[in-house]
Amino acid sequence: MRICVIGLGQMGGNMALTLKATGFDVTGSDLFENARQRLAAQGLPVAAPDELPPSDVYLLSLPTSAQVREVIETAPGLLGLAPAGSVIVDTSTSDPVISRELAAKVLAAGLEWLDAPVSGGPRGAANGKLGMLLGGEAATIERLAPMLEAMSARYTHVGGPGSGHVVKLANNYLCAAHLLTTAEAVAMAARAGVDPTACLAGLNSGSGRSAVSEVNFPEWILSGRFDSGFTTGLMRKDLRLARNAAERLGMAPGLLAAVVEAWHADPERPADGDDFNRIAGALLDTVSPTEETEQ
Ligand code: NAD
Repeated sequence: MRICVIGLGQMGGNMALTLKATGFDVTGSDLFENARQRLAAQGLPVAAPDELPPSDVYLLSLPTSAQVREVIETAPGLLGLAPAGSVIVDTSTSDPVISRELAAKVLAAGLEWLDAPVSGGPRGAANGKLGMLLGGEAATIERLAPMLEAMSARYTHVGGPGSGHVVKLANNYLCAAHLLTTAEAVAMAARAGVDPTACLAGLNSGSGRSAVSEVNFPEWILSGRFDSGFTTGLMRKDLRLARNAAERLGMAPGLLAAVVEAWHADPERPADGDDFNRIAGALLDTVSPTEETEQ
């Protein structure tokens, strides 16, 4: 199976190296030459955007739907150059409405479509342990099973084209909310004199636990490392997409609106380029050492 990975950032670069290490015939491409050079230095064959090789799969890992649209539609674009029967797999966290529109065009052009947004961060991409949410035809998934198995610890087929992106937005809304609620809970306990690490141990033995309390807090927040590889700017994009999707569906969920607002309250703290876990760090910083020991 020949795979062309387009977008060699934190996720795409690592996915490409994992697929190559598993034995697939992989070429990487990125708009920026420095990204291509960084991956070429790690042994990945690379190609400029106007020199993409004929492939069975075009795996996209791009910032937003705007770039996905550009790569698929802008002349010549994958619609013009992908061989008949090849599959476009969008692993980006994209706008489901645009994904459905693009999927229809891809299918009409005699190609196949799969949306396959991921979780697990750059580390999951590097060790083939991503979680993937799949939107597309069962037959396409069956055909791509060897590739999906090489990339992921688990993949879940959630519906037709765009469904993977719908569920990814729902997941990231919950993750963003858990970062706020868990930070508030830990800050409240700290004010009452409970050590944050001890508080987390307690929460993780109870029903208030989540991936955020079990993984993000120990790994990236309480450790002070803040190096998960996922930025605040990308999480803000996902939250805006979730809010827009809810609005288009005629819903106005108050909690979602509050979470989106909290994440956009201060563009500098955290800044778009900061690790997304910084939002919880900023909330915890409001508990000063003096206050922690009071009561
Ligand atoms: P990134 O910014 O590190 O990488 C994106 C890459 O796309 C960059 O190298 C950029 O040069 C390239 N690019 C931009 N426009 C392009 C174009 N027109 N043609 C070719 N290449 C182009 O982003 P990332 O962190 O790797 O995230 C990629 C996607 O995965 C995003 O949609 C993000 O929301 C999602 N995601 C990221 C994480 C994470 O932990 N980083 C986790 C899950 C999902």
